[in-house]
Amino acid sequence: VRVTFTSPHHREDGLSGTIAVLQDVTEQEKLERSRREFVANVSHELRTPLTTIKSYLEALDDGAVDDPQLAHRFINVTRNETERMIRLVTDLLHLSRLDSKQAMLSKEETNVPEMLEEVADRFSFQLQQKDIEIDIAIEDGVSHVMLDRDKIDQVLDNLVSNAIKYTPEHGSIRIEARQSAKSSALEVSVKDTGIGIPKKDLARIFERFYRVDKARSRNMGGTGLGLSIAREIIKAHGGTIYLESELNQGTKVTFTLPVKDEERVAG
Ligand code: ADP
Repeated sequence: VRVTFTSPHHREDGLSGTIAVLQDVTEQEKLERSRREFVANVSHELRTPLTTIKSYLEALDDGAVDDPQLAHRFINVTRNETERMIRLVTDLLHLSRLDSKQAMLSKEETNVPEMLEEVADRFSFQLQQKDIEIDIAIEDGVSHVMLDRDKIDQVLDNLVSNAIKYTPEHGSIRIEARQSAKSSALEVSVKDTGIGIPKKDLARIFERFYRVDKARSRNMGGTGLGLSIAREIIKAHGGTIYLESELNQGTKVTFTLPVKDEERVAG
């Protein structure tokens, strides 16, 4: 929002200056409110695992430590909670770097089909565990693109990991890539046959910490930041990201990356 201040001296009504100031305050208040919400969310997200860890440590101290089986279970819980906290703090660091524009993109010429094969490989164990099939469909003409490989890998990892998390056993995932002719962009989508997202949540799904079901996301080890990180990374590349979903049918997340003609290398 651009706020233009018009000096009242130059206007007979002298009102537009006041209006401009009000708009400015509203914008600032909005920013301030979202900053406060963010800090409250972060604090809450960190306090939850810490409280759990504390109570399990107390239980161990109160005698559970003498029962090897119980002790083993309790220690596992505290380890899982610790790992989730590490993931959360790592995600927060990523976001803050993306926010402060410290994260300069370092683009390299990347073989797109290879990159997509590799993301599927990284998840082969989890896919096997849930008996989820994955297939990759690459249209003719998709080959090399200039992109920040680490960051786009992070986007793909977030999308595929969500697809696995929110798809029941025996489901399937499809990764598609195509070169959209009219906008000269690479278009990649990750589609699953999972639980889907209710219509009312769709508009807010890319917001930080927004989840359809907090408890489910936590149980799955989620931080609630995956999609917002993906959006920042795609934005930094000058692309777009959007999500389509049908409750109990599945979800499809698509991102585009602009490809300059001179960047496209024949494969
Ligand atoms: P989380 O760590 O909770 O998965 P994300 O930012 O990655 O956080 O996603 C935000 C929320 O969007 C999730 O909690 C979940 O409710 C919903 N979501 C994301 N991807 C999918 C998907 N493929 N299927 C169903 N719901 C999804």
